Amino acid sequence: MEDTVLVVNCGSSSLKLALFDGQHRKQASALAERLGQNDAFARVEGQEEIIPLDPGASHDQALNTLVKVFRDQGLMASTPTAIGHRVVHGGETFREAVLLDDDVMDAIEDCAGLAPLHNPVNLSGIRATLAQFPEVPQTAVFDTAFHQTLPKKAFLYALPEAWYREWGIRRYGFHGTSHAFMAAEAARLLGKTPATTSVISAHLGNGCSITAIRDGISVDTSMGLTPLEGLVMGTRSGDVDPGLFDFLRSKGVAADEVHRVLNHESGLLGLSGQTNDMRSLCELADHGHEPSQTAIDVFCFRLARYVGAMMASLSNLDALVLTGGIGENSARIRAETINHLKLMGFELSPDLNNHHGEFSDGRIESPDSRFPVLVIPTNEELVIAREASRIAGSAAPG
Ligand code: ADP
Repeated sequence: MEDTVLVVNCGSSSLKLALFDGQHRKQASALAERLGQNDAFARVEGQEEIIPLDPGASHDQALNTLVKVFRDQGLMASTPTAIGHRVVHGGETFREAVLLDDDVMDAIEDCAGLAPLHNPVNLSGIRATLAQFPEVPQTAVFDTAFHQTLPKKAFLYALPEAWYREWGIRRYGFHGTSHAFMAAEAARLLGKTPATTSVISAHLGNGCSITAIRDGISVDTSMGLTPLEGLVMGTRSGDVDPGLFDFLRSKGVAADEVHRVLNHESGLLGLSGQTNDMRSLCELADHGHEPSQTAIDVFCFRLARYVGAMMASLSNLDALVLTGGIGENSARIRAETINHLKLMGFELSPDLNNHHGEFSDGRIESPDSRFPVLVIPTNEELVIAREASRIAGSAAPG
């Protein structure tokens, strides 16, 4: 029977399943959305048909339904040989992916205070999968683990030291699987080894973060204690002045409300007043909608500033790498961002940029650019599948 790997990714109200073969080629995937709400539903990738879920369906129910659909449709002909779970927060406990057991699950639960929207649902996905496949080795792959190499000067906030010691308040960073993938892919495309390749990688999706990777190791990143810090995102503000909280309190805005607005009503959505979707913003801006152009301008300027900031952690740079829905698809955002970085010697080829590097091994810089600029489609599921196989392989008896 051929080896297969199942990847489980539980978000706060969604669940994604992906099945890979022994060569880590994706065989099937499915997505359940609006979990916990009355209109929960699921769909297998590439199929029109909606799979109904019970109103208020939990992650457990969605997982059981989708595994049954995979089996009934012959997409999962045999029990997977390994299972990989995305876990958002590993705190300082997890520096790499680990085989799941009771102690690891307790430790993930201990980290839940740092990611209350994510770690509990990650755990419920893990428990449901363990119940379905008790005999299969299961691995937890953490969003934070890749950034556990950050030096103290990069991960400490300038706050009372006891807050770090007693409460773990520090910068953790997220999107680690994506940044690790981009660094390895950039090394491959440049004909180098990951351990000798230094890049700045920008993951630009609904959530956005940027990381400095020196010789394959994460040394600085824009997200912090939570995924709210750093770049402008779809609905998240990124960096704001912490003095804002006091000011808003004086205006009678409660802490919960500030939290809600910074996470769900800020970023591109807040600035444009229209949408968090970059493609729609570009269309609106083309039709003369000024707030949408302003949202784009703030997004690109902040991103360019952060590229400059990441330079402080590197002694050489092999490439600036861009990914995520925006990084991979928007020539306009890449051009507007790189335009701010002329003084550092970055310059794009308009032609290669317009083709997203499709005909040039991902490279979109002009011949005069001081540094290569690469567009690399990210693949977090593939990283999780590879890690799950590797760890299940090393855990196998004999
Ligand atoms: P998620 O973080 O949810 O996985 P994605 O990585 O899919 O998100 O990125 C979604 C973002 O990518 C959206 O803002 C979307 O508008 C943007 N995007 C996708 N294609 C384009 C495009 N051609 N031009 C501009 N933005 C795009």
